[in-house]
Amino acid sequence: MSRNRLVVIGGDAAGMSAAAKVRRLDEQREIIVFERSPHTSYSACGLPYYIGGLVEAADDLVERTPATFRDKYRIDARIRHEVMEIDPGGGRVRVRDLEAGKEFWEGYDDLLIATGAHPRCPEVPGAGARGIYGLNTLQSGINVHQALAREAPRRAVVVGGGYIGLEMAEAMIERGIAVSLVQRGPEVMSTLDPDMGALVSQALREVGVTLYLKEVLTAFAVAGGRATGVITDRRTLEADIVFLGMGVLPNSQLAEAAGLPLGEKGAIRVDTRQRTPRGRIWAAGDCGETVNRITGKPFYVALGTVANKQGTVAGINLAGGDATFPGVVGTAVSKICAVEVARTGLLERELRELEWDYATAVIESRTRAGYYPGAGKVTVKLLAQKGSGRLLGGQIVGREGAAKRIDVVATAVTAGMTVQEVIDLDLSYAPPFSPVWDPVQIAARQLVKKV
Ligand code: FAD
Repeated sequence: MSRNRLVVIGGDAAGMSAAAKVRRLDEQREIIVFERSPHTSYSACGLPYYIGGLVEAADDLVERTPATFRDKYRIDARIRHEVMEIDPGGGRVRVRDLEAGKEFWEGYDDLLIATGAHPRCPEVPGAGARGIYGLNTLQSGINVHQALAREAPRRAVVVGGGYIGLEMAEAMIERGIAVSLVQRGPEVMSTLDPDMGALVSQALREVGVTLYLKEVLTAFAVAGGRATGVITDRRTLEADIVFLGMGVLPNSQLAEAAGLPLGEKGAIRVDTRQRTPRGRIWAAGDCGETVNRITGKPFYVALGTVANKQGTVAGINLAGGDATFPGVVGTAVSKICAVEVARTGLLERELRELEWDYATAVIESRTRAGYYPGAGKVTVKLLAQKGSGRLLGGQIVGREGAAKRIDVVATAVTAGMTVQEVIDLDLSYAPPFSPVWDPVQIAARQLVKKV
């Protein structure tokens, strides 16, 4: 039987990586992509820098337009088309043309779901009010940009101290807007251990963000349908504009309605080839689940790195090849103004839950030789298993040049290296880049004594 038509739902990182890969490997395939927003292949990661004014135009964040996909790849990418329903039995999707206001059914031989994720917002009173913004699509960023120009807000409140919340706080600082941040936990960035999160909280305070830690959002104050404040269990913060930074949830509703099994955090369950148990339906990116390579357990992470790789893997398989996505160790990097933040592997909280015996070391060092101009502070925390000495994770907070050191830690964690093996790595050194002992190795030297 010929399997000629591939339909992709979602025209960004995962969907378009897959579609482009299929086209490179298979000249004949008919490829249709339905994307409900007005853009394809954009960088959501760049939105905070567009909103903050560092990136001038929204178009700068678009990598490939539908016209490029049509002319260069012969991919029929239809923007402003929303898939409303999947009919797995009939092998078709119900699509709404959002411009024409019409609906139609489109058949598929293979279907890739790449619908991404949406910002989490608790169902508190006022949650639907205008003036509350979450970011996911390019259009969502354009909406914020326009609101800032139109309304010239003076006070912003960010609810949630995840990395998108942090980046939005930075964007507001860049624009000279007073910003407060409300966080449920004891420190911002719950993807770090609290001792490292405290360094990030401090960095936020130093750039002028007012923090309200250990406070829970209970409602939004609303007047005339518009949010005028954020109400926590302790106070009301007046706001001209509100941002959501409480993490994201997978857009898996279509899959769920079609009877596909969901896993971690409601993400679509897939195998390592990105295939769902429903043979001809595949999923990739923020809408799907993956595996934590350290624990071997199902895991949910919404990152562009992962989405691009999963899309490519799905594309190879959809073109008849054989590729697998092995999972993640949870590597991520961000920054708040001049302070860089990075993490990989497991947290103390997770290790306690797993009942693994572990040790930690936290050290302070410099990003460059101490005498070299621009040397800044860097704090490195490493975690390892007692007994085996296996490295299990690391977190880094520091000045320019600090964050990308996490890639050494991530590589070591992925390879299952011991702390001693990290010490033995032949890492580079010259005064503009590092002290003689790289900060990661200084931390490893402390840690080896404990494992
Ligand atoms: P998406 O990019 O969300 O694309 C899904 C697409 O599907 C959307 O365009 C959506 O409109 C469309 N869609 C959904 N439902 C339907 C439907 N029913 N019919 C038709 N179309 C539909 N990651 C990093 O690795 N590093 C970073 O620094 C980073 N920074 C970020 C900053 C921000 C502000 C945001 C929002 C995200 C950031 N990310 C970052 C995450 C990264 O952008 C995502 O992981 C990545 O875009 C996921 O790609 P995706 O294709 O799975 O989903």
